[in-house]
Amino acid sequence: MPARSAQPSSRSGTIRPDTPDIAKHSGQDNEAPMLSIQDVIDPVLVERVSEATVLGLDIGSRAAKGVLLHDGEAFVAKVWTGVNMQVTADELLADLLGLANLSEADIDYAVGTGYGRVALRFDNIPSEIITEIACHAMGAHFLNAATRTIVDIGGQDSKAIQVDPDTGKVAKFIMNDKCAAGTGRFLEKAAALLDYTVKEVGPASLEASSHPQISSQCTVFAESEIISLRARGVPRQDIAAGIHFASARRVRNLVSKVPLQEDLVFTGGVSNNAGMKHALEVLIGFPIKPTRIDAIYAGALGAAIYAQQFLTERRRTLARQTSTGCDVSDVTARIALAEARFVARTDVKKAAYLCNYTPVELLGASGAAFIRLLKCGSSEDVSRGERITKSVFCDFTKAVLGQFETKTPVNEAVDQVFTFYTCDAMRATSQAIDNFYRPARGYIVPRNADREGSRAFFRSEILSFRGDLEQLTGREIHDEDVQAQIGLFNRVRAIVRDISALRKRRNPPLDGRAFLEIARAAATLEAEELIPLLEEVRERLTRVPDQGARRLRLMMCGGIIADGDRKILDLVEDEIGAAIVVEDHCTGLSPFYQDTNAAGDPWRALAEAYLDRAPCARQVPLDRRVEFAVNLAREYDVDGVLFTYLKFCPCYGLTKGKFLNAFQEAGFPVLELANDYSQGDDGQIKTRLEAFVEVLTEKAEA
Ligand code: SF4
Ligand code: SF4
Repeated sequence: MPARSAQPSSRSGTIRPDTPDIAKHSGQDNEAPMLSIQDVIDPVLVERVSEATVLGLDIGSRAAKGVLLHDGEAFVAKVWTGVNMQVTADELLADLLGLANLSEADIDYAVGTGYGRVALRFDNIPSEIITEIACHAMGAHFLNAATRTIVDIGGQDSKAIQVDPDTGKVAKFIMNDKCAAGTGRFLEKAAALLDYTVKEVGPASLEASSHPQISSQCTVFAESEIISLRARGVPRQDIAAGIHFASARRVRNLVSKVPLQEDLVFTGGVSNNAGMKHALEVLIGFPIKPTRIDAIYAGALGAAIYAQQFLTERRRTLARQTSTGCDVSDVTARIALAEARFVARTDVKKAAYLCNYTPVELLGASGAAFIRLLKCGSSEDVSRGERITKSVFCDFTKAVLGQFETKTPVNEAVDQVFTFYTCDAMRATSQAIDNFYRPARGYIVPRNADREGSRAFFRSEILSFRGDLEQLTGREIHDEDVQAQIGLFNRVRAIVRDISALRKRRNPPLDGRAFLEIARAAATLEAEELIPLLEEVRERLTRVPDQGARRLRLMMCGGIIADGDRKILDLVEDEIGAAIVVEDHCTGLSPFYQDTNAAGDPWRALAEAYLDRAPCARQVPLDRRVEFAVNLAREYDVDGVLFTYLKFCPCYGLTKGKFLNAFQEAGFPVLELANDYSQGDDGQIKTRLEAFVEVLTEKAEA
């Protein structure tokens, strides 16, 4: 995957071969370097460069630079800017197409930038024109991901740009365009007065034994200073050094207003003037960061990266327009009604549960009204919960406590909380609820499902749960009651599985958030109300025709996604335009995947069903869970997997390696996202998701 450089074009009389600010990026004028895209882009960002064919043209006042990214290759070329900017751009494009052996029709998207951008037209290529400030920032970011400050010195102006190191976007900039001092034009003029070519004047300045003060930075007055210094016999190289220091001082003053930060990259036509680079380094007091190719291409590279981003956005918009979507607002409304009913009821005892290992059949058989406490997802709840936990817990458990602290109507209505737990955070949460808010009972889920005695022990825990429920309601729970509930919940599971299976279609009739609403209804509504509602939803969704463009299909795997936590789903489905078609977490499809044996001893059946279902990551053997996840990815034909878990969750944090390896070995690209309920990392998560989806989109289209 070579990056090849076109030699400056000899057409149209636009060549000025002795000029250094279009020196070859390899430093070897007659040799086309062979560089892979990995050699051009900072390794940290390589995965964000897609295989699309995109073009960036930076038409500067002196030279025009172009970067063509195609199928993992980078082609660069430069020509001198002629009188007609469009002719210059056409020459540059022809050179790049020749190098890549492509035609205009192969280009998916183009972005034009630079001094001459306003005159640019791309008749047959989808395109945008954007400022060189944005493009230099993005280009410098991709050349060196740590870039925070850019000095861009071109033929006509100089700029100082502060870059957001997470996104490559411009945070702040300042520009000197009123005066030629500190620009390529000033250096050109000074070189001529010293009888150097522009190419020679920079290296000559490095030979200086001292550098006289050039007090005036105006080209007109500097001219007389240079003439006077020469008349006094000051060596040419010393005067050259004085000129470079005078220019660099002006640029340093400009940069200090941005303000100046280390990780500084020097771009623009003057960036390969060694004398200017040296003078700047001396004045700013630290070295300029190296880039992997000549930084004169930063603007064109940034334009190509923007072209790639615009292309992705365009494809997403198209995908969104062709997607059928699905409205499950009636399900959401029924959940709200059920919650309100739960709060208002006074005729029964009211139970709540937390973990998915809690056998809901038993709650159903108890005659108590019950609800799963899952409305977590806000950072306010997390902060309130932290007053209790005062230590490192996952945001889910903190938010559960925060909701009690807030005294939400649902939490206030609860008589008792029952929690089966697999992880220590859940156990501690149950104890904290009991200490501070409501009576709470916790039950142990044996860690190793295959160990002798695990099932018998779990059965005894379930029987303790039965006793506690009976105590709460004052009503006995008989085997037949539990068997009847097993039958009802098996029906619920079967319908939910049917609805989920519709997502195996090329164009699913419901997205990931709609499916989570259905799963939420199953944790909130009583079976008698739930079953007809879900049957109606299944019928409605089955009637939706499977048509339109195939959206990128993703699986979400990992830790709990609470009811108020839709951050990643919103980003993926609204902003990025991909679809979550299946999930392996305890609030998605997993709890519905397997039925409970409705015959025989119901207590044993519950113990086996809950131990054998897709286990929480703390459980062993983990291999079964990992295998289940990979099989789901295959079954739902996903393009990639988002492995998400809450920060400070030891269960998923420690076991993630097994999941990631298994997905990769099975051929599923996987993106790991450690998440929390704050919004502080939204931008970073979005960027990572975008990059992941871009790569998958390219792969899917190949
Ligand atoms: S992630 Fe595991 S411990 Fe937490 S609620 Fe889900 S099943 Fe229970
Ligand atoms: S398994 Fe992780 S995310 Fe779930 S409750 Fe435990 S610590 Fe929190």
